[in-house]
Amino acid sequence: MNNNTFDAIVIGSGISGGWAAKEFCEKGLKTLVLERGRNVTHKEDYPTMHTPPWEFPLRGQMSLEAKKENPIVSKCYAFKDDADHFL
Ligand SMILES: Cc1cc2nc3c(=O)[nH]c(=O)nc-3n(C[C@H](O)[C@H](O)[C@H](O)COP(=O)(O)OP(=O)(O)OC[C@H]3O[C@@H](n4cnc5c(N)ncnc54)[C@H](O)[C@@H]3O)c2cc1C
Repeated sequence: MNNNTFDAIVIGSGISGGWAAKEFCEKGLKTLVLERGRNVTHKEDYPTMHTPPWEFPLRGQMSLEAKKENPIVSKCYAFKDDADHFL
């Protein structure tokens, strides 16, 4: 039980959580970071990085059907065909 005690628990390892965890660690706090997502490797996991819009069926836009099916995430500026694998 003592090994599972932390001064700070950070949920999510994005830039906000990652930076918070860095600050906690630098101040000597025993910190746990919990991340639910998969590991994303810079560049390696960007399969559409160099795909021009005209190579997507709707020039990179998502279909109306996809927007209806995803009413919340479709409000994100990055809800496009080239970023679909992230969302
Ligand atoms: C396709 C795309 C391209 C982008 N390109 C750029 C760019 O070029 N330059 C730029 O400055 N910004 C870019 N952004 C925006 C940038 O990624 C975001 O502004 C930034 O990641 C937000 O950081 P965050 O820490 O707030 O959230 P996030 O990075 O979303 O981090 C949140 C983390 O919390 C995790 N999480 C959520 N819920 C839980 C849970 N219950 N338990 C455990 N873990 C959880 C998530 O898996 C995620 O890893 C881009 C965004 C997208 C989608």
